[in-house]
Amino acid sequence: MSCALAIVTHSYYSAYQISYPNIFSMHDTDNDDCAEDHHQPDVEPKGLQPLVITFQKGDSLNRILCENRVSAQEADKIIKAIKRKFGNITFQIGQELTLEFAGSINDIALSKLSFRHLTDAEIVITAQENKQYLVEKKPFLLYKDVRFLSQKLDSSFSVSAKESGVPSKMIRTAILNLGNVVNIKNKNSTDDHFKFLYEVYCDKNGNFVKSGNILYLSIRVKNKEHFLYGFAKDGKNTEYYNHQGECTSIKSSLVRPLDGRVPITSKFNLKGRWHPIKGYKRAHKGVDYGACSGTPVLAAGPGVITQAGYAGGFGNTITITHNSGYKTVYAHLSKIKVKRGQYVKQRHHIGNVGSTGLSTGAHLHYEVLINNKHVNPLSVTKMPNFNLTGTDLNKFKQNIQKIKMEIKSKDAPTVYVTERKL
Ligand SMILES: [Zn+2]
Repeated sequence: MSCALAIVTHSYYSAYQISYPNIFSMHDTDNDDCAEDHHQPDVEPKGLQPLVITFQKGDSLNRILCENRVSAQEADKIIKAIKRKFGNITFQIGQELTLEFAGSINDIALSKLSFRHLTDAEIVITAQENKQYLVEKKPFLLYKDVRFLSQKLDSSFSVSAKESGVPSKMIRTAILNLGNVVNIKNKNSTDDHFKFLYEVYCDKNGNFVKSGNILYLSIRVKNKEHFLYGFAKDGKNTEYYNHQGECTSIKSSLVRPLDGRVPITSKFNLKGRWHPIKGYKRAHKGVDYGACSGTPVLAAGPGVITQAGYAGGFGNTITITHNSGYKTVYAHLSKIKVKRGQYVKQRHHIGNVGSTGLSTGAHLHYEVLINNKHVNPLSVTKMPNFNLTGTDLNKFKQNIQKIKMEIKSKDAPTVYVTERKL
């Protein structure tokens, strides 16, 4: 038996023993009022705690259940019930399973089994009165922690932040937005430091699940201070800005909608070309990328999905409406992974290359429109920038003041944690 299982089993027994004093007190009492209790066949095992078991190398669900008071027959029933609903579930080493029990001392039965599934769901198996098991997927409750670090830079920012427990994804985001200039290894400097206010999402036991947004980051390196602020001008979707409200997280150009070396098989041509299927001359209002079926298609820029569905000759088509009258269109897709009304960030995986609609083979037909007029996607190098202006900029400045006050009240060399339910 593995170490973790041994500990868990031990805690099970200690929980089990806690119920004994209750039984003894009932048996030892002289009080006649308790006479009836003597004849009760069973006593509820009060204090029986749920078991939290960590999945170890070589474990299986069957083994875990059988080692924890579940009969082989019941374990088989549970596993089959899960398989019927969700197919084969694989467990990760270190994953936690919670077992809850009901019944009496002589007849303890598993009442509930639950474990995490993907990042935001939980599979819950509940014993029913008809001796069957109900298998359900429930949203996994996440709790948002806001953490604050104020620290000297003894080595590079990425090393110092990592040592202080900042999730690596967040460190990458910070460097991507501030540039490598903040990540200098500077051992001699005495006043280089960083202040970091950021969000993480944890489970109910406080275990880290995923990174949230950076709220504030200042890095002082080589006598220069660099600032980064997370700000959602629509109240929902956070982008990153410098002190002046200039956006650092969106390239001010549309990016290529496909990764890798993908050839252009047909260029933009408003004058017309022979349509390969229709057999007559017509304009080609976009470019064709000859990518294999299934290749991920990426959002050329951030925006709102204004079309996602089948559109005649275009087959499965997505349209993204960006700011300042810009639109991009992605056609002949094999798969659409977004919904109308959804906001997507630049390079969000929106669908896959296919050959739906009037198409002779797998390719991506890609269009760019400015104020509803088609333009050559290959000539659009600049898009209006995403810097904050007007009321957005005012809101941003107010937000900076709020954050600065928050940091002033928290500024201490230790990690500060506040817990807020999501
Ligand atoms: Zn085309």
